[in-house]
Amino acid sequence: MEGCIFCKIIAKEVPAALIYEDDFFVAMLDIGPVHQGHTLVIPKDHHATFLDMPDDLAKDYAHVIKVLSPAIMESMGAQGVNITTNVGSAAGQTVHHAHFHIIPRFKGDGLQHWPQKEYEEGEMDKIVESIKKHL
Ligand code: AMP
Ligand code: ZN
Repeated sequence: MEGCIFCKIIAKEVPAALIYEDDFFVAMLDIGPVHQGHTLVIPKDHHATFLDMPDDLAKDYAHVIKVLSPAIMESMGAQGVNITTNVGSAAGQTVHHAHFHIIPRFKGDGLQHWPQKEYEEGEMDKIVESIKKHL
């Protein structure tokens, strides 16, 4: 995909700190890490988001993330990881080539999770019904 930084990295036109590569995926260190060892796992084919990927490839994705995450945790001495993908600009996606973040987490590292709201009475039932209708 023309102009895509991740496609350029996969084509080896742009250097990156690659930690893993197979026929379908690469993993590299994020240049702007939340914590050291913050890794991006990227499909070699250009798909704008995770939701645009074919199901079979998405299933293989889970396997690669499962293999990489414990290795990242052990090497960084982390007690946990956040595994996340942003789908769309509204969700904070800045590079529009699918990728999962594996972010090492440390007890007491001070990172805050999202703020939480509360539902009004009856709101949850309506939302459950609405989402189910779209499945
Ligand atoms: P997102 O906001 O989910 O689209 O995440 C994109 C991530 O890609 C950010 O965390 C960036 O720091 C990272 N990133 C952008 N360009 C590069 C690059 N050339 N090498 C490594 N990481 C990159
Ligand atoms: Zn791309």
